[in-house]
Amino acid sequence: MDDSDIKRLGEILITAEEEEELNTPDEHDHTETSTHQSYVTILKEGDIRSRMKEEIQRVSNTYSISKDDATLLLAHFRWDDIELHKNWSDNAKTVRESVGIFELERPLDLPSDDKNFYCGICFKIHSLERSASVSCGHRVCKFCWRSHINKRIKEIADVDWYGTLKCPYCPASFGWDMIESFACQEEKTKYYRYLFRSYVEGSKVIKCCPAKGRSCDVHLTPGSGNFDVLCLCLLSFCWNCSQDTHSPMDCESAAKWLRMNSSDYQDPNWVRENTVPCPRCKLRIRENQDWSLKMRCFPPCNYDFCWRCRGQWTEHGLDLYTCTHDEYEETVFGNMAEYAAGRYKDCHEKWMSNESLMQKAKAKLQQLHTDVIPDLSNKQLATVQQLEFIAEAWSQIMECRRVLKWTYAYEYYLGEDQVEKQAFLKLKQDNAEIPLEKLNYLAENQLNMLLDSDGPSENFNRFRSDLTDSTRITRNHYELLVRDLEDGLSNVVGASTSQRARNEDDASGSSSIHDDLF
Ligand SMILES: [Zn+2]
Ligand SMILES: [Zn+2]
Ligand SMILES: [Zn+2]
Ligand SMILES: [Zn+2]
Ligand SMILES: [Zn+2]
Ligand SMILES: [Zn+2]
Repeated sequence: MDDSDIKRLGEILITAEEEEELNTPDEHDHTETSTHQSYVTILKEGDIRSRMKEEIQRVSNTYSISKDDATLLLAHFRWDDIELHKNWSDNAKTVRESVGIFELERPLDLPSDDKNFYCGICFKIHSLERSASVSCGHRVCKFCWRSHINKRIKEIADVDWYGTLKCPYCPASFGWDMIESFACQEEKTKYYRYLFRSYVEGSKVIKCCPAKGRSCDVHLTPGSGNFDVLCLCLLSFCWNCSQDTHSPMDCESAAKWLRMNSSDYQDPNWVRENTVPCPRCKLRIRENQDWSLKMRCFPPCNYDFCWRCRGQWTEHGLDLYTCTHDEYEETVFGNMAEYAAGRYKDCHEKWMSNESLMQKAKAKLQQLHTDVIPDLSNKQLATVQQLEFIAEAWSQIMECRRVLKWTYAYEYYLGEDQVEKQAFLKLKQDNAEIPLEKLNYLAENQLNMLLDSDGPSENFNRFRSDLTDSTRITRNHYELLVRDLEDGLSNVVGASTSQRARNEDDASGSSSIHDDLF
C-alpha cells in the first residue's frame, strides 16, 4: 500500500456530515479527523464554538431576531431546534414572555428631561448616555448594570443558569451583548463556558470525551457505524453508555460484567449461596438485591423463572415475593457451583491478561510519538507523517487486545448448554491470535532492528509494506470477529459446528496467514 492508497482509505472513512461540510465553502478552518475504527469525527473546542455560532446565526436569520435573542431562545430550549420551532410557530408571544424577550409598544421610564435620568438602583441622577436597558426598557445606569451583571454571573449554579440573568426590575433577560459590554473578564469567561457546555449537552451529536483527571478539549460526534470511539487522548469508550469500549458485548451485559466482583465469583461457596442457575441455559444469575423471587436470565436467553422453586414465572401470581410451589431441593445444580466458579475464573483470567496486553500496547503507542518516531525519522530520512503507519499498527494491536478481552466476557455469558457456540468461539479466539501475533512481531521486533541500525536501512521499505499489509489483514479479521459475535454467533448450528468453523476460517484465509507467519 503506498501513500495514495492510505489517503484513499482516509477519504472513504469520512462521514457524510463531514462530506457536506467539505462541499460547502466555510470561513472556519475545521481541523476534523476521522478515526479508522469508529466513523466518529473528533472535533476540537474551536470547531464546536464555530458550530455553535453558526447555529445562533441560523436561528437569528430564520426568526428575524438579534443574535442575542437567538442565543436566549436556544439556551431556553436546550438547543433543541425542533422544540423551539414547534413552540415558536404555536405561539411566539408566549415563548418570548417565558424567555424574557419583550416587544415594547412604547419605551418605559421615559426620562423627565432629555439629558438626565434618575437611576432607581443607586438613587442618583446620571446623564442619559450613562444608561442602558434591555427589551423591557427599564433604564438603569451603567455602574449598576455592571455590578448587577457580575453578581448574577457569579451566582450562576448549574440548573437553568440562563434563567437567572434578568433585568434588576423584571423578568426581561440580558444576553451576551450586555455581558460583552459590562461583565468583567472572569465573569465573561464563566458565561461563555456555561453557554458552550449547554450547547454540547443539548446537542445530540456531540459528546465530551469522558477521560478522567485530564482536561481533554476534544469532543466527538458520531457518524454512521458502531458506538466505538477512540479519542485523540487514546481513551476508547462507548458512545452509547460512556463505559470503556465493549464491542462485541452489548451495553447492558458489559455493565453487568464490570460490576461483578471478581473474587466473589471465583469462590464456589459464594457462588452457591448467592447465585442460581437459569433452568433453561444454566448460566448463574445473582439473586435480586430486594429479595424478590422473579429472576430474569441474561439476553439472549431472557428466561423468567422463580428463585425459590425454579419454575417458570408464568406459573406465579403478580406478587413478586410469593411462591406457593415446593422449594427447589439444591442437589444437582448445587454441585454445579464449582464448575460455574471455575468457568468464571478462566474467563476472568484471560480477560485480565488481554487487558494488560492492551495497556502495554497503549503505553507503546504513547511512547512512539515521543521518542521512537522522531528517532526513526532521523535514521531513515522519512518524515514523521510517513511513519504514521507504525502508530496505526500499534493502535490496531491495542484494538485487537480490547476485542479479545471482551470475547472472554462474551464467552462467560454464553449459556452452559450452548456447547457448540462455546467451541466455535474458542476456535475463533485461537485463530484471532494468529494475525495479531504476526502484527505484534513486525511492529516490535522488526521495528527494533531498524532502530538499532546506524543509518538508513534497505529493509525499511520492506518493513513498511509488510507492516501496512499486516495491519490491514488484522483489522479485517477482527472486524469480522466483532460482527460475528454481535450477531450472536447465529451461524452456529448442529453438532458438526467445530469442523464447519474450521472450514469457514480456512476459506476466509486464516490458514494462509498461518502459513506465512514468521
Ligand atoms: Zn445606578
Ligand atoms: Zn426590566
Ligand atoms: Zn479524550
Ligand atoms: Zn455501551
Ligand atoms: Zn438463561
Ligand atoms: Zn416459585
